[in-house]
Amino acid sequence: MSDDQTSQAPGGSDQPSVFSRIVAREIPADIVFENERVIAFRDVEPKAPVHLLVVPKTERWHDVAELAAGDPALLAEIVATASALSADPAVFRSGDGTDLSVGRGEFRLVFNTGPSAGQTVFHVHAHVLGGLLQEGTLAH
Ligand code: 5GP
Repeated sequence: MSDDQTSQAPGGSDQPSVFSRIVAREIPADIVFENERVIAFRDVEPKAPVHLLVVPKTERWHDVAELAAGDPALLAEIVATASALSADPAVFRSGDGTDLSVGRGEFRLVFNTGPSAGQTVFHVHAHVLGGLLQEGTLAH
């Protein structure tokens, strides 16, 4: 987690979000993909063998419900980016060397939406989780 929490209250600060600061290279991140509209990087506190964040470069949309209503094509691009990255062995690899080829192209996509659902950064982002995940582990 970044030290700078100023932009991370829902509807709060006018400061750039932590993810906008990654886009601007003000905060370092392990960036695995970028184009004009989206950026993808490894989560600093991974919750799975592979844990990426796919983020639209604009911080106009606070959560996935807003994004779906406001720019469904951008939401579709986030999903397509997650899918493409999950199929890339250079990206979808485990830090401990576990062979993830069995699950290539398979992933769990999570959009925490609202503080009570665990959202802490109010710049919409997809968690892309992979690496031989088990059933029954969705809630925690
Ligand atoms: P949320 O809780 O909003 O769904 O997800 C925010 C995610 O952003 C968390 O998983 C957290 O670990 C990640 N995160 C927060 N700050 C940073 C950062 O500075 N760099 C990276 N790479 N990830 C971050």
